[in-house]
Amino acid sequence: MSPRKTTAAAVPVKENIFEAIAPQPEQSVSDPGQALRIIREDLGDCTRCVLHKQRKQIVFGVGNPTAELMFVGEGPGADEDEKGEPFVGSAGRQLNKMINDEMGIEREQVYIANIVKCRPPGNRKPKREECAKCSPFLMRQIAAIKPKVIVALGATAAKRLLPTSSPIAQLRRGFRDYRPAGVRSNDPNWHGCKLKVTYHPASRRGEWRQKGEAWKDLQMVMKELGMKAPKAST
Ligand code: URA
Repeated sequence: MSPRKTTAAAVPVKENIFEAIAPQPEQSVSDPGQALRIIREDLGDCTRCVLHKQRKQIVFGVGNPTAELMFVGEGPGADEDEKGEPFVGSAGRQLNKMINDEMGIEREQVYIANIVKCRPPGNRKPKREECAKCSPFLMRQIAAIKPKVIVALGATAAKRLLPTSSPIAQLRRGFRDYRPAGVRSNDPNWHGCKLKVTYHPASRRGEWRQKGEAWKDLQMVMKELGMKAPKAST
């Protein structure tokens, strides 16, 4: 992946009456790392949904604030809740394998986050209202990082990022143009982003057919990012 250029200072956007979007405090800073810190501060010790009641820690997201590639999972599990970092348990080991062995890059080069930032009890799927409270923060993270490609890991992430209920086999087809909610269509600081849906890494353990399909997805992502020919799938 090529090194990212420093983002230009935020440019005021002409008002579009069809897109009444409240400005966010991080939009006035040009450093994506600083923007992420502002968003984290704004999230605070969040109690916006019931998930806060049983969580140990908020799992905000981790990685390179100027990453070209961002992974979005479903929500923290027990290990993530314990450590405060996404994808550090068994699904995380699988994701690291994808990143290191299959894509040939380091975890630190990408950014990793989840649809919800607190662990759903018993690892149940996050509910619509929980996602609705949490996703504005994810949208702001995406807008700050400006990745070239977002990989939605699994059906839950895909269906929360996209306004669709189609099955994952259908969602996996090709790339979609993606613009996070909160970014105006005429925002000069937004240079576009592609969304690729693939299987959740937890579903890849021992699932050889799915693993082969997920490997095809990653190859498409690498091509989109202009990355060197991938190593063989492990
Ligand atoms: N599964 C997810 O979707 N996210 C995590 O952070 C860990 C497991």
